[in-house]
Amino acid sequence: MSDIKIYQGNQIGGCVTVISTRVGNEIHRIMIDFGSSLPGSGNTEDFQYPWEDEPVDAVFFTHYHGDHVGRLMDIPRDIPLYMGKTARQVMINIQEALTRSREGGEEHKKVLEVLRDDTRVRTFNLIEKKYYDHVKDIPGFVIEPYSVDHSAYDAYMFLIEADDPNYENGKRVILHTGDFRGHGRLGKAMLHVIKSFVHRNGRKVNALITEGTMMSRMDEEVITETAMMYEAAKYLKEHKYAFLICSSTNLDSLASFYQAAQMAAFPFRRYLYTYNDYYCAQLKTFSDTAGSFSAVYQFENVYRLGLDDELSSPKWDKTKTQKEVMEKAGFLAIIKPEEWCEKFLDPFIDDYRMKKIDQMPVIIYSMWDGYILEYLTDKKGKKKENEAKKQEWIDFLNKQEEKGVKIKHLHTSGHASPQMLAEVIKAVAPTDEIYPMHTEHPEMFEQLDIGEYTRKVRVQ
Ligand SMILES: [Zn+2]
Repeated sequence: MSDIKIYQGNQIGGCVTVISTRVGNEIHRIMIDFGSSLPGSGNTEDFQYPWEDEPVDAVFFTHYHGDHVGRLMDIPRDIPLYMGKTARQVMINIQEALTRSREGGEEHKKVLEVLRDDTRVRTFNLIEKKYYDHVKDIPGFVIEPYSVDHSAYDAYMFLIEADDPNYENGKRVILHTGDFRGHGRLGKAMLHVIKSFVHRNGRKVNALITEGTMMSRMDEEVITETAMMYEAAKYLKEHKYAFLICSSTNLDSLASFYQAAQMAAFPFRRYLYTYNDYYCAQLKTFSDTAGSFSAVYQFENVYRLGLDDELSSPKWDKTKTQKEVMEKAGFLAIIKPEEWCEKFLDPFIDDYRMKKIDQMPVIIYSMWDGYILEYLTDKKGKKKENEAKKQEWIDFLNKQEEKGVKIKHLHTSGHASPQMLAEVIKAVAPTDEIYPMHTEHPEMFEQLDIGEYTRKVRVQ
């Protein structure tokens, strides 16, 4: 007998899946993701997993976002952790930066120790091996990780075969999608993976566990990464001095903006500047990994913004200050929407006012708008408190607008549109059940255009 348990499934973020099966007299379990609830989920305290009573053999991480890995340190020390190889490096980069730059550095050193522990962390390395790994060292299970497209690089879905005599060939086949989308550069590949790998040799999927984030964000516009890149290129052509607010781990969007800047400056290059060394480290990791497979992911001219008033000179040109180089060639510069980052904008605003340059700098905001909305409106059009809002960001952006800086909103979601969800459900063709997770509105799965599969949806 096998069993599927989903904890905190009816919220966006912090969903934990535990799959168990019996081997002889023993029960074996795997856990997928162990992250924290997001602010605004209404859940202030995460559930306590009964590690003693229902021990798990291993924890698998779909990707490195905090709502999937955030409770890593609560996992008992003897449990192995499975994750993507690059995902691990991205997490190491984050923790290294946190040990350097913040109070609580000791805590982050402990996380680093765990992440660097080769006896405990096991990585999928499908790209180098050019085929997909199968994890076979957990009794009663075979787990196959497959890449999916998400706003995190090196994200996975898992195909799990759990021993169960009640199913064909004695195996219950479960597909756990993790977070995914169809509109990133590799989005549509998921449908091919389902066809060629998931259904290999006529294998059928019995249960599908799928994310449904966008079921509560139906009105959010979903554009493809490529469409966003072209829109950014058009905008950057008109605006030579552009600041960017974008997640340091959203490789696909970072590539969209970097490439857009190159298109805008063609036949010249436009340099990318970042506000700290941590950001440069992430971009280097991405160039070394994804960049070795596709030139789209190569970030070649990246410099850290100087911290002094004149924006110090990068090594390559001693005769000019960094600001002079930036003013002459134009730039794309990544900042954080926090007050201290004003020092990067103000010199350009001042120069514009003194007519030393002919354009005012602009800011491209490429994060979820939910962080900067004062209020949310519910389905009935009623205003409600926005618990996810970041007041510091709102204040920062308002202040820049008051100075005359234009804010351009250009963002695309990391999650599957309802259309993509329906396509995936129909492609997977689960024989028994569909379990929605990572959604506030599991009941809305019944409104998807999925025909006969509607009655297989299990709302918890
Ligand atoms: Zn995610």
